[in-house]
Amino acid sequence: MELVCLDLEGVLVPEIWINFAKKTGIKALEATTRDIPDYDVLMTQRLNILREHNLGLPDIQEVIADMGPLPGAKEFVEWVRTHFQLIILSDTFYEFAHPLMQQLGWPTIFCHKLEVDDKGMISNYKLRQPDQKREAVKALHQLNFRVIAAGDSYNDTTMLGEADHGFLFDAPANVIAEFPQFPAIHGYDALKEAIRAVSQRNIPA
Ligand SMILES: [Mg+2]
Repeated sequence: MELVCLDLEGVLVPEIWINFAKKTGIKALEATTRDIPDYDVLMTQRLNILREHNLGLPDIQEVIADMGPLPGAKEFVEWVRTHFQLIILSDTFYEFAHPLMQQLGWPTIFCHKLEVDDKGMISNYKLRQPDQKREAVKALHQLNFRVIAAGDSYNDTTMLGEADHGFLFDAPANVIAEFPQFPAIHGYDALKEAIRAVSQRNIPA
């Protein structure tokens, strides 16, 4: 039995924080896990900036609702779900992911949760579990699933290492250079082919 695990931002949808930074013009919010590998340092910085600018969850959700998935992502998700069960493993938050999951046809997603005060300001965030992407793949192995995984950034590399087959998808050059053990794939057609090639199933080309 095989499952596919995919990262969300940079793989199926644009980087949420980068889009929000563009709309608000707050340059400092453009940093992602591609720039700052320590997620706690990155999130603490983001929440401080939001507070300084008096921006709350509704402002962010407004941008996210307009963003939409990356071109071709919806069809790719449909292809994956035709042949496998799909679990999206993301370090975003359920509050951010919700409008995007709707546009992707409600795939399963495991991510984190925000704490929001009665004025709509994000007061804190709750990581469900440290290193949750890798822990999810480990748990799936215990349930006797083989796992094929793809992601684009530093926070995916432990998931890719734990999976039976891990691919870097449209990753930046620095991540590709640092993790040469994971094949670097560009575009959904190539990712389909890579998944097909390592799958134990007989999936038509
Ligand atoms: Mg990503």
